[in-house]
Amino acid sequence: MAGVSRLQYTTEARLIRVMCTGRVDLSFVLRAFSNGIDGVFIGGCHLGECNYVTAGNYSALSMVLLCKRLLEHIGVNPERLRLEWCSSGEGILFTKVMNEFGKKMKELGPLGKAEGIDEDELRSKLEEVTKLVPYIKIAKREKLGSRLENEEEYDGFYTSDEIEELFREVPSYYIDPEKCQACGICLRRCPVEAILGDKNQIHVIDQGKCIKCGTCFEACPPRFGAVRQISGEPVPPPIPEEERMIVRKSKEK
Ligand code: SF4
Ligand code: SF4
Repeated sequence: MAGVSRLQYTTEARLIRVMCTGRVDLSFVLRAFSNGIDGVFIGGCHLGECNYVTAGNYSALSMVLLCKRLLEHIGVNPERLRLEWCSSGEGILFTKVMNEFGKKMKELGPLGKAEGIDEDELRSKLEEVTKLVPYIKIAKREKLGSRLENEEEYDGFYTSDEIEELFREVPSYYIDPEKCQACGICLRRCPVEAILGDKNQIHVIDQGKCIKCGTCFEACPPRFGAVRQISGEPVPPPIPEEERMIVRKSKEK
């Protein structure tokens, strides 16, 4: 409506159209900041007016509140992320909010510099949080999927302590070499190819690639129970490559 009505708004904004605010994933927002964008604005239909049965704008609201806390956690000003309800028919409101947001970003200054965080340090912090998005989504799935009666009830929905705890409790996954039977199920199910292994070879997890999704923990057959979830203690080093071969008893004879 803003375009059709020839309304002017900040020229620094770049629009990305999605079908619903619920489509805006937490990782999209973090990726925008990783790419050096100073601010992210999400505009969508008012609560209770979603065109879809999924009511995606409630999911967007919860995601934004969580993301603001995550930004705070890594030292980024949460005002760099803004969510506003303005439907496609509200061109004047959209223009007003975009101009306000553009002005705010100019006041805050460039991302990182304004916060006193070195560019490389900020990128590495953002990448670390982005890597943990699958874990964060699993840990906070109930809140992310909740739909409260009105917007006021979302005040203080996520707390700083809660986010501290979330990061303190990030689990690691480790394959017990004494139990692994090289069935390959975990390797096939890992979404990021973080598991190394072959036929008759004890499998190991590349901790640098692991995104802590827990799929291997769920997938390893209970009769083997080889994947361990580790919290609050260091992960044992992987078994050396030359010791990974499993010699089956029938083949020993
Ligand atoms: S937790 Fe397991 S399945 Fe998930 S990324 Fe890490 S190694 Fe892969
Ligand atoms: S699913 Fe379990 S037993 Fe099979 S390869 Fe993975 S860790 Fe080993």
